[in-house]
Amino acid sequence: MTDAEILIVEDDSTAAYVLERTLRKLNYKVTGSVNSGEDAINFVIEKQPALILMDIMLKGNIDGVETSRRINELYDIPIIYLTAYSDDESIKRASTTKPYGYLIKPFDNKELKSTIEITLYKRMMDRKEKENELWFKQTLASIGDGVIATDKNDIITFMNTIAEKLTGYTLAEATGKSIGNVYRTVPDMTTETFIYFSKYRPEEFEKNILYNKLLHEKEGSAIPIEEKVSSITNEKGDILGKVITFRDTTKRRDSELALIASKDFYLNILEKFPVLVWRANSEKQFNYFNATWLDFTGKSLNSQIFFGWYLLIHEDDREKFIRNYEERFNKREKLEIEFRLLGMDAEFHWLICAGNPIYDLNGNFNGYVGVCLDITNRKILEDELRNAKNISDASNKSKSNFIAIMSHEIRTPLNGIMGLTDLLMDTDPGIEQLEYLGLLKESSHMLLSLLNNLLDYSKIEDNKEKLNEDFFNLRQIIEEIIRPLSSVVKRNGVRISLEMDNELPDKYYGDAKKIKQIAANLLSNAVKFTERGSIVFKIFNDHLQGTKKENSTLLHFIVSDTGIGIPEEKMDSIFDSFTQVDSSLTRKFSGSGLGLAIVKNLVNMMNGKIWVESQLGKGSSFNIVLELNSEPKNAVQFINAE
Ligand code: ADP
Repeated sequence: MTDAEILIVEDDSTAAYVLERTLRKLNYKVTGSVNSGEDAINFVIEKQPALILMDIMLKGNIDGVETSRRINELYDIPIIYLTAYSDDESIKRASTTKPYGYLIKPFDNKELKSTIEITLYKRMMDRKEKENELWFKQTLASIGDGVIATDKNDIITFMNTIAEKLTGYTLAEATGKSIGNVYRTVPDMTTETFIYFSKYRPEEFEKNILYNKLLHEKEGSAIPIEEKVSSITNEKGDILGKVITFRDTTKRRDSELALIASKDFYLNILEKFPVLVWRANSEKQFNYFNATWLDFTGKSLNSQIFFGWYLLIHEDDREKFIRNYEERFNKREKLEIEFRLLGMDAEFHWLICAGNPIYDLNGNFNGYVGVCLDITNRKILEDELRNAKNISDASNKSKSNFIAIMSHEIRTPLNGIMGLTDLLMDTDPGIEQLEYLGLLKESSHMLLSLLNNLLDYSKIEDNKEKLNEDFFNLRQIIEEIIRPLSSVVKRNGVRISLEMDNELPDKYYGDAKKIKQIAANLLSNAVKFTERGSIVFKIFNDHLQGTKKENSTLLHFIVSDTGIGIPEEKMDSIFDSFTQVDSSLTRKFSGSGLGLAIVKNLVNMMNGKIWVESQLGKGSSFNIVLELNSEPKNAVQFINAE
């Protein structure tokens, strides 16, 4: 099986010869054959054989056992004893030299071969084991960390040089001692890990997930270390011992302590910050809530971390919250959610929760940090406002519906009255009857205009009125209003006139009907409240008011009269609906108090301005500024396109 070189030590030359021949026949190499202990030792020194077949009983000064002992001292060569006697005495002596086997003379070829093979195999295994052990010890010695190995009873079996240095014990001193006597450690209360776990993770702290320790060395001084313990098990899983690796963290801890001091400062601020603060790790798990949060919920940190706090979210908001949170989280987007959370007062509070992704100095995603604010009061206010608006919207709607229906209902019989009045007038009535019929006609006209005003007003209030813009001739529509009025005022000797700036273009783009309505209302008021003097309708380009858009003109309208005027304190309120300066005048002048409210609304619709200047007893001037396009929009685009 091998080329192993065998040395024969045998003083009987015949036996030696036979043995050598047999070995050669069995394909072994015989490197030499000697007949004395001294020769054997000299041969071994010169040429180390792989195996020695040694006769126990050698003639000469030293026998086989002594020769083996001396060879063993020099080399690690396996020896098989050859002996003719199986007497206990010589076997006992021979066994002290730890031979690999015995061959009792006479032995046959099979015995010889199997004993040699077994010896060579054992030898190979022994060497491998020794090499392994050496390799293992050298590896452990060269590791930068301290390493201590123990058996299953915590007795030290090995320690590397770093461990020697850190514990202050030599390998020789430590071997055989219990681990606790050499490697004496306590938790390091000053490290960040300790502070963090004891404060925020008491449950884990109790489970002793603590790697930061202080090692008390032999001399008594303490070194901060970081340790890792692993058990050594066999294939069946039985624990055979432990390997403890640990490293000196003095340098790291010094800088860490400085950091903790500043971190703790900020952590304290965060804890007492008057908003709810939370943090989540990169696995979406919530791992921090500040003291304000815990005070708010009245729950322990343990019950809140991870996803425990989800139970406090209002049932109707929970799913929405989780979905929103996870979606934003996956996209690393800013988070903003409103939801209800159960407070320690057993009431649900509306919170607005804002969160942002956080990254470490290397730009790695590190989870989210967020704050929640209690917006319950705002929510209540919002609800109240919404309710109030709903109620007023509803009541406004029914009011305008009512007005629309009623005015229609009234208009129908009114039509009848007016028509019949006209018919009666044609039946050749007497002078007195004619006067009554005239009054009847005037009254029904007034009633009709009141109805029209009511309807206009409710339409505007209801936001049903829309601008209906088109191209129109300004001078023409104003004249259409003034003309019928001038015949009315002439009877009282009041003059009415239109003064329109000649430089103004005639054509404008806008809602002509609404501008007419405005002019008609202002003029009919002027007529109503002016008994003598004049009424002037002025239109000019107002360069002073605001800035002008391209292709538009700022038109300033003034309707001034020399009538009764308006007291200063009433100048604002006359634009409110159903307001009249003096209700006692109503009978004298008639009216609904709706005209100016309608005018103001129409002006607002056109983004214009309205105000009044007046002197009691001397007259009033109603001012309106409107910005109107002086050319149709389409035409402008058309020209540009060309
Ligand atoms: P009414 O239908 O009563 O005229 P308006 O809203 O048009 O309602 O006007 C409100 C009130 O403002 C009038 O009742 C009147 O007291 C006052 N007012 C309006 N125009 C003039 C004016 N040209 N001169 C004096 N007072 C006026």
